[in-house]
Amino acid sequence: MNNDPHSHGVWEKTAPDAPVTEVLDQDVTADVAIVGGGYTGLSAALHLARAGQSVVLAEAVEAGFGGSGRNVGLVNAGMWVMPDKIIGTLGSGMGTALLELLGQGPQEVFDLIRAEAIDCQAVRTGTLHCAVGASGLRNLAERAAQWRRRGVDLELLGAENAAAAIGSCAYSGALLDHRAGTIQPLAYARGLARVAQAAGARIFTGSPVLAVETRNGAPLLRTSRGSITAGKVIMATDAYTRHVYPEVRETQVMLPYFNFATRPLSDNLRQSILPYRQGAWDTREVLSSFRLDAAGRLIFGSVGSLTGRGLAVHRNWAHRAIARIFPQLGDVTFESGWCGQIGMTRSNLPRLSCLGPDILAISGYNGRGIAPGTVFGRLLAEHLSGHRSLADIPLPSQQLAAPVFGRLREPLIALGAQLVHLVENRLPRSGRHG
Ligand SMILES: Cc1cc2nc3c(=O)[nH]c(=O)nc-3n(C[C@H](O)[C@H](O)[C@H](O)COP(=O)(O)OP(=O)(O)OC[C@H]3O[C@@H](n4cnc5c(N)ncnc54)[C@H](O)[C@@H]3O)c2cc1C
Repeated sequence: MNNDPHSHGVWEKTAPDAPVTEVLDQDVTADVAIVGGGYTGLSAALHLARAGQSVVLAEAVEAGFGGSGRNVGLVNAGMWVMPDKIIGTLGSGMGTALLELLGQGPQEVFDLIRAEAIDCQAVRTGTLHCAVGASGLRNLAERAAQWRRRGVDLELLGAENAAAAIGSCAYSGALLDHRAGTIQPLAYARGLARVAQAAGARIFTGSPVLAVETRNGAPLLRTSRGSITAGKVIMATDAYTRHVYPEVRETQVMLPYFNFATRPLSDNLRQSILPYRQGAWDTREVLSSFRLDAAGRLIFGSVGSLTGRGLAVHRNWAHRAIARIFPQLGDVTFESGWCGQIGMTRSNLPRLSCLGPDILAISGYNGRGIAPGTVFGRLLAEHLSGHRSLADIPLPSQQLAAPVFGRLREPLIALGAQLVHLVENRLPRSGRHG
């Protein structure tokens, strides 16, 4: 979609066509204007239209251009941070509400996919968080205990059961979360766009919003060939924010993340890896993730950017890592590789910002945005259509732009991941992680 072979990879090759949309080349009005066509913006558009609001969504490129079309497709519950940490940050009332809301996030996503017949390779057999060494297993046991205290039973697998579920002896155990599953991420974004359009939302693509002004007390959003006058605005631009409200970008640190997809594996090999089709990732600081797609391609990813030297370093590392974790595969050929940027926040939680009267933004999903983006899009829609107060959205709403932080760290993160993978490329090949 971007004339860039490293932007959307296998997802672009295998997603159903995007719904037909046009460039905004006129002046339009709406109850609510949405900027950004990822899960957050599209879910908000769908629910606003269903609530009888007139909605115009402007997307700079096309639906799913940002993280929503590039991610691994792990539909997980909760956030990356441990449940107790969320309570520590938000307090018991708001923290518990957030945990309950996002604990049910995958259910909401899979229900929506089923109800709207979204064709996106949805598989809900759980996800596996794979333990690296004894410390990884301790970390997972603690995570399981914290969820159990909140009435959620995650299954902690020992090394032998984990090996059977993963198809690899590389791990000391795994945490199986039955609430979760996998999707084809770009197909889900395009499906949401189709459903939102059918509900009455007007979606314009190739239409970056270049400026937000105020006209007669109402926000006016300008694109190069048109404008939107709206009573209210949702900024759903997350890690791909451009042109307007730079503070949405600047309150996040970008973590580059790449994926490589093999050619479809033979039936035999496919049976030996993730036989229940669970998506997986590990407990390492510079983590790896892996899953199969519907055609049996192994999709293997980690932290790093595929620009410059990064492409060769990370591709080489991915070959070696796959050979170590799944020696039964022998030498694999990569059909495609792509990468994207993940917006991380200081609190490790999404950030709800009030950018002006009736201008709200939600961003910073910290690598877990499929279910949260879908859920928070709905919550913002309920709020702006008068069915939910802002206080009933379990995140602190922040009035002022936070000071810029971390921009300097971004090249260091990319370089750090490259160094880790360079060093690992020089280590002798071995089996289980240390
Ligand atoms: C490589 C990678 C792997 C990931 N893996 C997972 C995973 O397995 N599971 C998970 O839950 N999450 C994962 N994530 C995170 C998840 O993809 C994101 O959190 C989520 O997609 C964010 O959705 P969004 O709608 O808020 O933003 P995006 O999907 O990023 O959409 C923002 C959109 O805004 C548009 N835009 C920006 N500025 C303007 C403007 N001025 N005018 C008009 N449009 C504009 C952009 O073009 C973009 O399309 C991953 C992310 C990446 C990058």
